[in-house]
Parts: sequence; structure tokens; C-alpha cells
Amino acid sequence: MAKPKLALYWAASCGGCEIAVLDLHEKILDVANAFDIVFWPVALDFKYHDVRAMEDKSIDICLFNGAIVNSENEEMAHLMRNKSKLVVAFGACAHEGGIPGLANLTTKDAILKWVFKDSPSTVNNNGTYPQTHTKMPEGEIEIPEMWETVKSLNQVIDVDYYIPGCPPQPDQIWGVIEYILSGQPLPAKGATLGAGDKTCCEECPRERKEKKLKQFFRPYEIFSDPNECLLDQGIICLGPASRSGCGALCPKANIPCRGCYGAPPNCPDQGAKMVSAISSVIDAHEPEEIEKILDQIVDPLGTFYRFSVPQSILRRVEKI
Ligand code: SF4
Ligand code: SF4
Repeated sequence: MAKPKLALYWAASCGGCEIAVLDLHEKILDVANAFDIVFWPVALDFKYHDVRAMEDKSIDICLFNGAIVNSENEEMAHLMRNKSKLVVAFGACAHEGGIPGLANLTTKDAILKWVFKDSPSTVNNNGTYPQTHTKMPEGEIEIPEMWETVKSLNQVIDVDYYIPGCPPQPDQIWGVIEYILSGQPLPAKGATLGAGDKTCCEECPRERKEKKLKQFFRPYEIFSDPNECLLDQGIICLGPASRSGCGALCPKANIPCRGCYGAPPNCPDQGAKMVSAISSVIDAHEPEEIEKILDQIVDPLGTFYRFSVPQSILRRVEKI
């Protein structure tokens, strides 16, 4: 019997999701045995025209990681959708926009100005910016056009399943692969795979007493107790607003949860959920006092929506 065809593609991502697949270690050989890998630019020499030449829906599963930031990402998302029976948004950037989605808290012009003109390490006296088309003696060079707004994969194409995480944990990836190979019926379309259905706090071994707080700290500002809930100690931990599945990896390593598994089930906005969790532990009643305590939280938007700005109710700022 022919092996199922598997494709892996990265759009706007750091490559960590690809490394997470390689972190399957020797099980990667089982993946190679079980699937016919027909496209995986990071590891194997396939070209876009190889995919364009394939029949529509000839790929069984496409694991697509990365957000949609530019015209190339979007074109590839549509191409992979056309060629694949199942498309899985793989990792936080494809799932919710991820770290690239933080760009929605500013504008394209501001980003280009900072990167190509104002940043301290840049010398650009002529104010030259990248152009999508440049004529050279050898011919015209075309580079992808950066979009104003970063999107998650499901804001561009129809997505069948989601595997969250920055990156998804290898044991969770393997669990999904094993399930698919077992031939059991697939979950309903739109399901989140390789993750739990509770919050990160429920997997966390630290003792949480929901203490009232007058002060917040950044992790490097205090020596935290290794057994006590980080939030109880005034360190912003997104455990109450994050889906379980990673085994509370970060709090176990004395680092607060950043929220990479996305919002828990039935929660439409991870940041709003975290704001609600914070509100319930503030030890103050007067508006001025509450404001003073909240002012201690550095970069609240970037902290509460680190991985989820494009999927949030906010989606983007209109101007800065
Ligand atoms: S808030 Fe963070 S440290 Fe506290 S119980 Fe939840 S995951 Fe653990
Ligand atoms: S603890 Fe939070 S940030 Fe760390 S891997 Fe788990 S969900 Fe992601």
C-alpha cells in the first residue's frame, strides 16, 4: 500500500517548529518510514515548482508552520491548501499569529523605518528601502511584499486542525503522528491536537493560593520560591490563560508561562482571560491604587498577547 504523503512548510517563523520535528530524535526514522515526505524545504531539496506540478489534493497531510506576513507566505498557504487533503496549523505562529503577530501592535511603515533607517546599527543616509521589484543588469529581481497586517493561517485559508505551541512539544507531535498512523477516526474538523483541554496551571506542580498582590516583578528582579506559584509571588505567569499540553514546562524550569499553547478551550481571547486573572488578585480597591499597581506591569499588551495578537479580539492597532 502506498504510504500517506506528508508535506511540511514554514512561512513567517523562526524555524523552531521544524527543529521540534527533528527533536523526535530516532522516531524521525519512523516518520520517514511511515510517510512519503513530498515537500520539506528546510530538510530536503524540493522546489516550489515541484509542489505546483502535483495534482490537487495529492498530499495527505500538510503541517504548515509560521504566520502569514507577506505575499509569498500567502501564496504558499493557498498552494498547500489546494494540494493537501488536510492542512494542520502547526505551532503558535500558524495557530494564532505568534511572535510575528506582535507586528500588529505597530505599523508596517514604523517597522521598515526602524529596521532600515533608525536602528542604532543601521547606516542608511539615502533612506533606501527594500523594493518589491528592482531592475538589475541581469534582469528584474522580485522579493515578496510585506503585508500591513500579520495573519494566522486560518485567516487566510481553511484549516483542518491545530497543533499549538512555540514550538509544539516533540512528545505531543509524536502523539498526533501515532494517532494518525493508528488509523483511528480523525477528530472533528477544527480540533486542537497535541494539547490538553485544561489550563497550564492544572499541570503545574507549584502551589497556588491566589494570593492578593500589591507588587509585580519581572523574573530577574526577585529570587522566587521554586515551589510556590509564580503569580502568587508577583511574577506575571500566563498559566491561568494558557491551554495545557506542555506539562507546565516553563514554570517547572522556574520561568513563567508565556502563553505559547494559546487560550484554553472556550476562551476567545487569551489576553482578556489573563487580565481577568490579574484583576482577581490585585490587592486594592481605589482606582488610583489599582492603576499604580497595574503600572508596574511592563508591556501589558506584549505580555498578555505575546502569541495571539492576530487571533485576538483586538487583532491590530490602527495607528501608533
Ligand atoms: S500561574 Fe504559573 S506558576 Fe502559578 S500555578 Fe499557574 S502555571 Fe504554575
Ligand atoms: S509553560 Fe507556557 S510558554 Fe512554556 S511551553 Fe508551556 S504553554 Fe508554552
